[in-house]
Amino acid sequence: MIEIRCANCNRPYPQQGAPFRCETCGGVFDFLEPLTFDDALVTSQASGMWRYRHTFGLEDDAQAITLGEGDTPLVWREVLGQDIAFKLEYLNPTGSFKDRGSALLVSFLLVRGVQTAVEDSSGNAGASFAAYAARAGIQARIFIPDYASGPKRVQIEAYGAQVQRILGPRSKTSEAVLKAAEGGAVYASHAYMPHGLAGYATAAYEIYEQIGRGPGTVIVPAGQGNFLLAIGRGFQALKNAGLIESIPRLVGVQALACAPLWAVFKYGAAGLGWVTEGETLAEGVRIRHPVRGDALLNMILENEGVFVCVEEEAILEGRDKLAHLGLYVEPTSAIVWNALTQVVDEMPDPVVVVLTGAGYKTAH
Ligand SMILES: [Zn+2]
Repeated sequence: MIEIRCANCNRPYPQQGAPFRCETCGGVFDFLEPLTFDDALVTSQASGMWRYRHTFGLEDDAQAITLGEGDTPLVWREVLGQDIAFKLEYLNPTGSFKDRGSALLVSFLLVRGVQTAVEDSSGNAGASFAAYAARAGIQARIFIPDYASGPKRVQIEAYGAQVQRILGPRSKTSEAVLKAAEGGAVYASHAYMPHGLAGYATAAYEIYEQIGRGPGTVIVPAGQGNFLLAIGRGFQALKNAGLIESIPRLVGVQALACAPLWAVFKYGAAGLGWVTEGETLAEGVRIRHPVRGDALLNMILENEGVFVCVEEEAILEGRDKLAHLGLYVEPTSAIVWNALTQVVDEMPDPVVVVLTGAGYKTAH
């Protein structure tokens, strides 16, 4: 990997090991230079997102740990009086967009000789990491809250990951995994580790190729917001390469029950004062302190993007509206429907709606 540095003290990512955050100052690692995209280097020798391997910064001789992620369909439907494009990210190998990030993160861990790693997600990230760890022969230990249940937990266990159940609220699970990390375990955090961002960005390259030009607007659910951030950076790379004229308007979608990015976007720092971590059907975007929130807010502000929030009552309605189009996604993904109805009349077309997670991921 190249050009990963601590966003706080600017130290480069170390040449050995796989720390999840800066060992000197505790800062978050990130790509501090823009991603670069070169049309001439997109290869037909590889499939899925690995066609864009030149954008990853992964060593040339590094093994690609792949399960066929990327190259997801873009399906057009006429809804709300417009032709809308739906990017079917839920058709990735484990049922969510997270696979684009996991493939790259796990490929990197293998380069660094990692044999066991811990992670703390009871959701799509945990399932995705467990699958790619199984593919790579890495023993995964996933910390999950004891109350977590449902298809995602079953999926994590089926891949052979060791599941560590932690009693108490979600924060106890975070404490437990950090303790394991302090004890020397490699913490393959999907939130902190930046390596997967270059993988997420490939969704932007695909959308550009599938439409044949840059879209006007892209709508994405945002919890940590890493997918939205990386899609924005992907379009930035296309713009820097002279392939599109402008970055599309980016619409980040949050559930009102836990909407810190929306609150700060709308009310400034004062908005944080009343952010709650409320119960929501959109469990995958229930993140109170997004790790890269500042970078994401800056990108949205610089490119005339917006955050919108969706009330709880509208979530299952959105799920059903999408399902009636033949698009079956989980409630977390379905918040994009209501967002689409909020912005469709004022945002430039073509509008792309990103559908992040499969419907059979939840019991609702
Ligand atoms: Zn640092």
